[in-house]
Amino acid sequence: MEEKDTLIEVKNLSKFFDVNKGMFAKKKSYVKAVDDVSFIIKKGETLGIVGESGCGKTTMGRTLLKLYEPTAGEIIYNGKDIANLKNNEMLPYRRKMQMIFQDPYASLNSRMSIGDIIAEPIEIHKLMNKIERLERVRYLLNKVGLNPEDVRRYPHEFSGGQRQRIGIARALAVQPEFIVCDEPISALDVSIQAQVVNMLEDLQDDLGLTYLFIAHDLSMVKHISNKIGVMYLGKLVEIAESNELYKNPLHPYTKALLSAIPVPDPDMALQNKRIMLEGEIPSPIDPPEGCRFRGRCKYAMPMCAEAQPELKDMGGEHKVACFLY
Ligand code: SF4
Repeated sequence: MEEKDTLIEVKNLSKFFDVNKGMFAKKKSYVKAVDDVSFIIKKGETLGIVGESGCGKTTMGRTLLKLYEPTAGEIIYNGKDIANLKNNEMLPYRRKMQMIFQDPYASLNSRMSIGDIIAEPIEIHKLMNKIERLERVRYLLNKVGLNPEDVRRYPHEFSGGQRQRIGIARALAVQPEFIVCDEPISALDVSIQAQVVNMLEDLQDDLGLTYLFIAHDLSMVKHISNKIGVMYLGKLVEIAESNELYKNPLHPYTKALLSAIPVPDPDMALQNKRIMLEGEIPSPIDPPEGCRFRGRCKYAMPMCAEAQPELKDMGGEHKVACFLY
């Protein structure tokens, strides 16, 4: 099989938020939303990122697009480190890197027609004249399975699934290469989630797109992802090829997430006993020393409190951060 080129390489990326209250605060405290995360995404592929809410996955997606300035680390896009580029230097990259938002209700301006919503990024980047823009909007509506004649209608006239299609058309307007899909189906009815995922896959094949696909559980990401990374409290705890992760999960947290996926066959469901996680998720403000999962891990050992496990290569691009390995 042909080896694909790397589009994005993230090296030791961190994003901390200062949570000091007032100028007389004695000690600096930080929310360590993303802490020393590294991975690669190849051109035309999808990396799924999974974890519970508050694990830092959305912050990571936004930091990759430089909607947040990284605290440390490198974001190498097509061979160029963009982590420290200034706003004006980022302009050509902003066009290539787009985002699809989680909430198709809040992310579309209700006072704009859908034609204007989709055309807005083209206008911002000054890419086409008025006639070309309209033509492009109609093409995009057709591409996402909506009626090109609907350009003058408003977001409230559409269902949740249709609004998400409008959000996708907007993200595609400026011909991006890379899209962060931030839980694009979690606000949608289960019945239309698969339709939207299938459409994203078709668009990827058709337009050669590369995705970072963020989700809060493992049920839908397998379908679309080439590789999957699991995040816990700002750390990447496991990453592997999609099939390998489902067949051979190693980290206790990944095993618990996998056991929570509903299984349609009752016999299989009996075999796949759900692993209930005990304990609370610790605060991301000054998270605990050692392994951040140790308060909920039934295999925790004294060494898990003393040092942080590093991601260890188990072969075949399967990496895990746990002292059991
Ligand atoms: Fe559990 Fe220790 Fe592994 Fe953390 S390092 S997941 S606490 S066994």
